[in-house]
Amino acid sequence: MSPPVPPQRVAIFGRPGSGKSSLAERLGLDHGYALVRTGALLREAVRRRAPLGVRGEGYLKAGALVPDDVVAALVAQALAAVGDGRLLFDGFPRTLGQVEILVAWGRERGYRVDCFLDVAIGREAAIARMGGRRVCPTCGATYHMVSHPPRHDETCDLDGTRLERRKDDAPEIIEARQRVFEESTQPVVDHYRTHAPGRYRRVDGEQPFEAVYAETLRALGLDA
Ligand SMILES: [Zn+2]
Repeated sequence: MSPPVPPQRVAIFGRPGSGKSSLAERLGLDHGYALVRTGALLREAVRRRAPLGVRGEGYLKAGALVPDDVVAALVAQALAAVGDGRLLFDGFPRTLGQVEILVAWGRERGYRVDCFLDVAIGREAAIARMGGRRVCPTCGATYHMVSHPPRHDETCDLDGTRLERRKDDAPEIIEARQRVFEESTQPVVDHYRTHAPGRYRRVDGEQPFEAVYAETLRALGLDA
């Protein structure tokens, strides 16, 4: 079955460094998609010391995947709050276990995601993008050595401070995040590509951001 055009409910997938979260934000702003971002939901639950946050916190700190039932409960809470307009999942379903939970929601109450959007980018390209990010420790300005470089090498345009990598962007952490994606989420993408080809859409995530966004709008049947 083909998705309604444009789809009401979209799940977006992509490697760390694919730019999927920026795409999600832009779709939210321009086309009224409410974002359900599991990373943000989890951090917020930790901050409020909510029971689900307390359960998830240790996994987050260890850099491990948070258990599927915790993630699903957070998503269910968020869905109750956003109503039934356009919706975009960023970070769900992230494992095959979460795919099963979504299947159960479909069986129990007819819940259905209309479109699975795959922002495809190779491992090397993703690593290069993440490795290029720099931040100014003085003012917080962000740069990218390829797509948004500072005027003078590796110093802040605003205050001349030497730019740094975020701790999250250390090479070994970038590698680890790619591995987690390959082991846990790539099987989810493969699952929808083979089992729901009519609802699966793939865009080339290696293009510059504006080109990826334009291709995404075409893939979803949205106006530019
Ligand atoms: Zn600065």
